[in-house]
Amino acid sequence: MTTMLGVSLTGRTVVMVGGGDVTARRLERFLSEGALVRLIAPELSGAVAALVDAQRVEWIPRRARRSDLAGAWLVHTATGDPRVDTDIAAACERRRILCVNASDGAHGSARLAAETHAGDVVVGVVSDAGVDPRRAGRLRDAVAALIRDGSLPLRRQRPTRSGRVDLVGGGPGPSDLITVRGRRLLAEADVVIADRLGPTDVLSELDPDVEVIDVGKRPGHHPVPQDEINALLVAHAQAGRRVVRLKGGDPFVYGRGGEEVAACLAAGVPVEVVPGLTSVVSVPQAAGIPITHRGSAASVHVVNGQADTSESTLAALADDTVTTVVLMGVAGLPRLMAAAAAAGVPADRPVAIIERGHTPDQRTTWTTIAAAVDDATAAGVRNPAVIVIGEVARAGLLLPDREMAGDRRH
Ligand code: SAH
Repeated sequence: MTTMLGVSLTGRTVVMVGGGDVTARRLERFLSEGALVRLIAPELSGAVAALVDAQRVEWIPRRARRSDLAGAWLVHTATGDPRVDTDIAAACERRRILCVNASDGAHGSARLAAETHAGDVVVGVVSDAGVDPRRAGRLRDAVAALIRDGSLPLRRQRPTRSGRVDLVGGGPGPSDLITVRGRRLLAEADVVIADRLGPTDVLSELDPDVEVIDVGKRPGHHPVPQDEINALLVAHAQAGRRVVRLKGGDPFVYGRGGEEVAACLAAGVPVEVVPGLTSVVSVPQAAGIPITHRGSAASVHVVNGQADTSESTLAALADDTVTTVVLMGVAGLPRLMAAAAAAGVPADRPVAIIERGHTPDQRTTWTTIAAAVDDATAAGVRNPAVIVIGEVARAGLLLPDREMAGDRRH
């Protein structure tokens, strides 16, 4: 019978016997755990030698003697000679030192688990009987995949004294366009503070006792003011909770993520940011528009369509090598188009308006500077939408023969 034990090797002496490939793999693992490794082998494989050179490993270049085991908490033997390994394991047994015997088909008094690390947990698989590293590895991989999906209960049940905030970029909407790290942090969260945009599906998969606060709207349809959101983040973290601030797209692209980070830092709350797929890139992409394209668009200008039409935006619109990407721009479209026309931007410059990108209701209106306002009105274009202006917004740039479902062409 085997009991799995979580052992801390940090600062403890581990003696490794043998200098081949098995040693190389395990040496890396022991070193990353902070073990003090003494290595005994007449010669080293290239991989082991590289680690010995790069890290401070004490190497004794000869065959092992029993006296080499002195002071070890753990011994790992992988000499390639089963008789030597068995001999070392027996010597460890007499000295009450746990020993991993890596000889084919053997187990020492200890065995290393196939491990996967996720945040602050380690999941390990060991075999309780015969040696079967491939099975252990495959099981470990299967568990790791479930953890990545966010489908295992990673949430701490015992509160810690130290809460924290993670600003997670959720991408443009579909739950499989959020990062693996974002998914894991959501699975660990006690409180999720979410917006209207972004992957709202993942919220329904959370544990029922996770508190979800929607700051995108509240009675009267007014979003919660930013300073109240900042205060919420800080208050929950200071109460010892793991807080995920889930945002559409990327937290640092028109997401006021910078202000939230600053508020947390000012309050002494640990905070980290997980990037997300921003709609600046991913929503045009969903309509088949590459925002840069060799020969058509060499650079990109991103603008908030609610803001005034600045000189830099008019210069970008006038430059036929620049793609202009407008977020939050539906209401401001008439003003932007009028300013562009007044600034002498060619009337036939392509414009594409992509609504609800990456959702089943995605729709693209293909138009021009001159016709954009009429076409958008006729189509009833609404937020959320990304407006792309420039050569790359020409319908059929990449796929001339394909009519895209739900597309409108004018
Ligand atoms: N941080 C976000 C942007 C927030 S501003 C990001 O990086 O994507 C909100 C604007 O993003 C919307 O007005 C719209 O212009 C755009 N947007 C976000 N998701 C979108 C989607 N799925 N389809 C179309 N536009 C989207």
